[in-house]
Amino acid sequence: MSGQRWLVEVDRDVCIGSGMCAGSAPAFFELVDGRSRPLHGEVDADDEVLGAAESCPVEAILVREVGTGRQLAPEE
Ligand code: SF4
Repeated sequence: MSGQRWLVEVDRDVCIGSGMCAGSAPAFFELVDGRSRPLHGEVDADDEVLGAAESCPVEAILVREVGTGRQLAPEE
């Protein structure tokens, strides 16, 4: 996946503020007003981002490939 760029979004209406993403991937997520938000809307591909998305208990984190729009997480 080297060279890929990913789009990262958090659905703040779905997020329950567990803080797991900010805890496991603090370079990519932060809690604001009790909800997560991505620090960067577009990032270099990084397993930390996918790991955080996959471990979100409510699947509030959406990761897509720039260009193709292919959804990488959550798994469909
Ligand atoms: S892991 Fe999911 S529910 Fe928890 S803060 Fe992050 S986005 Fe919100």
